[in-house]
Amino acid sequence: MTSNEFAEAQRVMPGGVSSPVRAFGSVGGSPVFIESARGAYVMSTDSTPYLDMVGSWGPALLGHARPEVIEAVRQAASRGLSFGAPTRAETALAQMIISRVGGIEKVRFTSTGTEAVMTAVRLARGATGRDLIIKFAGCYHGHSDSLLAAAGSGVATAGLPGSAGVTPGAAADTLVLPYNDLAAVEEAFAARGDQIAAVVTEAAAANMGVVPPVPGFNAGLRRLTSEHGALLIQDEVLTGFRVSSAGWWGLEGRDEGWCPDLFTFGKVAGGGMPLAALAGPAELMDLLAPVGPVYQAGTLSGNPLAVAAGLTTLTLADSGVYATIDAFADQLSGVLTTRLTEAGVPHRVQRAGSLLSVFWGEGPAGAPVVNYADAQAQDTALFATFFHSMLDQGILLPPSAFEAWFISAVHTDAELERLDAAIATAAKAVR
Ligand SMILES: *Cc1c(COP(=O)(O)O)cnc(C)c1O
Repeated sequence: MTSNEFAEAQRVMPGGVSSPVRAFGSVGGSPVFIESARGAYVMSTDSTPYLDMVGSWGPALLGHARPEVIEAVRQAASRGLSFGAPTRAETALAQMIISRVGGIEKVRFTSTGTEAVMTAVRLARGATGRDLIIKFAGCYHGHSDSLLAAAGSGVATAGLPGSAGVTPGAAADTLVLPYNDLAAVEEAFAARGDQIAAVVTEAAAANMGVVPPVPGFNAGLRRLTSEHGALLIQDEVLTGFRVSSAGWWGLEGRDEGWCPDLFTFGKVAGGGMPLAALAGPAELMDLLAPVGPVYQAGTLSGNPLAVAAGLTTLTLADSGVYATIDAFADQLSGVLTTRLTEAGVPHRVQRAGSLLSVFWGEGPAGAPVVNYADAQAQDTALFATFFHSMLDQGILLPPSAFEAWFISAVHTDAELERLDAAIATAAKAVR
């Protein structure tokens, strides 16, 4: 069934959407058109409230339309929408990011995660004078040319190897290796170490479903890049300020005593407005224009409304918020495991901090998913059935088996109970 509003949208926009995964391509049916959102719920245009597990794909850490965030944006809007000139609020947001993460000295704001990672790659090439980039299959770093090969997220959902329109040159400069395979990285460095500018990796992979780094993987990337004079770019656009106050690095690298050269942030950092950032030591960051020779710019970068939303979101994202989300993730994982097992549905629930997703089907001997090949081997048809049963019960999941479920600080016991009942029913529908 195709809704009228979707048919109308499809006539004037490719696929009827502004970003591919929204089109429900892999689960079938028409996407839910949203009228408004508040707390843990989104309201459709036909006035049906849905318990929302998409959370705008990550930004809605505090829940939708948190009054303090809306008020900060409203006040910023009353002073003007965009100046194309520096503001004090940008400095304050940069200071806040630096103090929460540690290990970084300077921040450059962009409007999207895509730009942040694209710029980090350019900066790494500028800093090292080398061309090659290593990325991992199934990791998504936005839609810039050099990072689209074997990307996760919507590219995975659509089952594409990459994208048309990327030149062979751009593709040839990107070495794609299996995630969690340090030996493969070691081999690549042994063969072409003096040409590799950077390794770019999701801090914990969450765009092929949730696939945490195996212990020692990220630290091993740090060691190998250092040994060969390459940079380590840790992409925390998704995990940053979501899995802890200092992102995935705050759960891992900080304790282990190592730090990537560059971080990228986005999603939560903008609190639902278009804002992202790259960050690192002054020595590297000052290679960016206007101080250094690596050019990057943006008409709307550091937009005052986006900065207000980000600053207020991060100010409110205290330890209580992370504890609440962690506890909910623990309970929801338990519910999923229990209900799917009861119904005899083969599955694996995977976690990276408070991020979780379900891989459908047995997998080899029920082994965890550690890379993209494993993730692609899942039975996505089971998910499509599960997804639509949940939707019929008023629960909106990410419309792809390759995406994480997003929890907010206002997902409470009442929401857990609803999820429990709905998951029990959906699990039976799958079986
Ligand atoms: C979402 C995401 C991006 C891209 O950010 P956009 O704002 O969508 O351009 C990059 N890296 C990771 C890890 C992401 O999850």
